[in-house]
Amino acid sequence: MSRSYQPDRRHLLLAGAVGAAGMSFPTIAAGQELTPTPECRDEHDATPRQSEGPFFKPKSPLLSDLRQTGLTGETVILTGLVLTRDCRPVANALVDLWHADAKGDYDNRGSRGRGHQFTDAQGRYRFLTILPARYTGRTRHYHVKVQAANGPVLTTQLYFPSEPGNARDPLFRRELLMSVAPGGAERAARFDFVIGRA
Ligand code: FE
Repeated sequence: MSRSYQPDRRHLLLAGAVGAAGMSFPTIAAGQELTPTPECRDEHDATPRQSEGPFFKPKSPLLSDLRQTGLTGETVILTGLVLTRDCRPVANALVDLWHADAKGDYDNRGSRGRGHQFTDAQGRYRFLTILPARYTGRTRHYHVKVQAANGPVLTTQLYFPSEPGNARDPLFRRELLMSVAPGGAERAARFDFVIGRA
């Protein structure tokens, strides 16, 4: 990943703290198993990388509710884990999300539809945001960058199931489909990222 992507000061501080702690995880005793997740049962391929696209901006706000940036639309609760390829949670991983608004536009001057946060001790992240609209040439999608402390940046995109536009978008990949619970005022979307160890 290019050096042009600079995590903010908080992440650097966290990275230092984690580095000092040796990035250690509890040792799993013989016969003891981690609870499998839907996305990571065994040694798993890393989440596929995808292009950043033309609308990424560095230094997004530290925010879990992107609706606070001025987005309006149907609420989506996007949650998941950041995991290593051997299914261990990655704490303090940066998750940076940006996407189009309900009209299919990106905010290239401000921070509407942009925000980042860090996974908790169990590797979990959580965003509240909206359902992005399709725009010319693209099916409905989110953009995201994921980075373990001191690790490489995974840049990718997430897709919605049952979208007619998926089959027409050459960038679409089935491995990047979120699980989305049907119906309701708020859609619950889930995606677990699998990254290499730092
Ligand atoms: Fe896009």
